[in-house]
Amino acid sequence: MNFDDTLQEAAFRAEARSWIAANAPTQYEDELRKSSLGRQELKGVNILKVAKAWQKKKAEAGWACLHWPKEYGGRGASPIERVIWQQEEGPYGKLSAMFIIGHGMCGPTMMAFASEEQKRKYLPPLASGEKIWCQLFSEPSAGSDVAGLRTRAQKRGDDWIVNGQKIWTSGAHYSDYGILLTRTDPNAPKHKGLTMFFLDMKSEGVEVRGIRQANGRSDFNEVHFTDVKIPDAQRLGAVNDGWNVALTTLMNERMSIGAGVATGFAELLEFCSSLMFHNGLAIDDRNVRSKLANWAVKASGLKYTSFRAISALSKGERPGPENSIGKLVAGSMIQEVATFALELQGAAGVLSGPEAELAGKFQAMLLRAPGTRVEGGTDEIMRNIIAERVLGLPSDIRVDKDVPFNQIPTKGRP
Ligand SMILES: Cc1cc2nc3c(=O)[nH]c(=O)nc-3n(C[C@H](O)[C@H](O)[C@H](O)COP(=O)(O)OP(=O)(O)OC[C@H]3O[C@@H](n4cnc5c(N)ncnc54)[C@H](O)[C@@H]3O)c2cc1C
Repeated sequence: MNFDDTLQEAAFRAEARSWIAANAPTQYEDELRKSSLGRQELKGVNILKVAKAWQKKKAEAGWACLHWPKEYGGRGASPIERVIWQQEEGPYGKLSAMFIIGHGMCGPTMMAFASEEQKRKYLPPLASGEKIWCQLFSEPSAGSDVAGLRTRAQKRGDDWIVNGQKIWTSGAHYSDYGILLTRTDPNAPKHKGLTMFFLDMKSEGVEVRGIRQANGRSDFNEVHFTDVKIPDAQRLGAVNDGWNVALTTLMNERMSIGAGVATGFAELLEFCSSLMFHNGLAIDDRNVRSKLANWAVKASGLKYTSFRAISALSKGERPGPENSIGKLVAGSMIQEVATFALELQGAAGVLSGPEAELAGKFQAMLLRAPGTRVEGGTDEIMRNIIAERVLGLPSDIRVDKDVPFNQIPTKGRP
């Protein structure tokens, strides 16, 4: 591994750094730096508006979706240049959270399967943040096993008529478009009767219902479809080949989630450095130090694992399973770190909101952490992937793999 920039990379870094210094919304830098997993908001302003303005500015100067081709709103940059940009963008990168699904999953899927005309029409406004996209895959009985979904699309003339329900759709309430996985042939085995579409979220018959979370936020939704008409021209990939299209999306999902996963360690270290116990600073307490030391080791393991991926990118290679490992380790670590921070706060740890220690930063982190362990593949699914594809262990038993979908015994089949 070589962590130093090449001459070309150093020049790119300098250019990115000076553009960011001259253009970033510095008035929010401090707040963005202090924001953490589960708590990304700006006081007195709508973060979505600030994020859209920053994304637009980046797009106009050629700094949006760096690795996308120029004709679709990107810069045609190399993967390592994208990583350098992310490092330089620092806290302002947190403003990209609402674009992650569009940029990281829907965009690459459109790029692989939409027509040239559609790519030129839909991708630039997606890159510039003018339009937001969401991913409509999961259903009440199809999450890890997304191929078990039931939302039906039936062909009528040049259109498809869609009926059914999705759930956990992040950002559907502010999205303009979505990619939608449907069942088109219930007589085929579950992976072979699916078809992917993209649709306008304002189409007649689409109803978005917010889900209120334990932390008081409503980041994701139920989306109901009643006789929604989608033109056949908005089909992505062949009829009944939606599973292959979905694999493109899911592969990109794991890459984008895994790349930037938080651990909470930096926040905990800072907290322990200022927290007073009756006999001195928390950071000087041997029990606290022992815990911190364990997490420090894990955090640097994760850091160097991500450096390994970056180094591979720099050499033009594709990163391996590092992303699954990163998400798996960091997901449970952030939960443990937040729990420990609340223990340190004693009885006050049960408070949340502005009156709590650090305005409830660790409380918000604790409530968001389980989501990290579920989104983009649960811990168990990540372990299955690592076991099967990295360690070469025998695969999970899949008894329904070749059975026609409508003959799989299921409770409550409509
Ligand atoms: C924060 C967040 C954002 C999300 N955003 C979106 C989104 O934008 N769009 C979207 O479509 N979905 C989204 N999801 C849904 C997410 O993809 C699913 O929640 C996830 O795939 C798990 O599915 P499930 O919730 O149905 O759980 P299930 O699949 O029912 O799993 C239940 C339990 O069984 C275990 N399990 C399941 N299968 C196996 C197996 N083969 N081996 C071992 N254990 C297994 C799981 O690990 C889990 O513990 C989001 C979820 C979260 C938490």
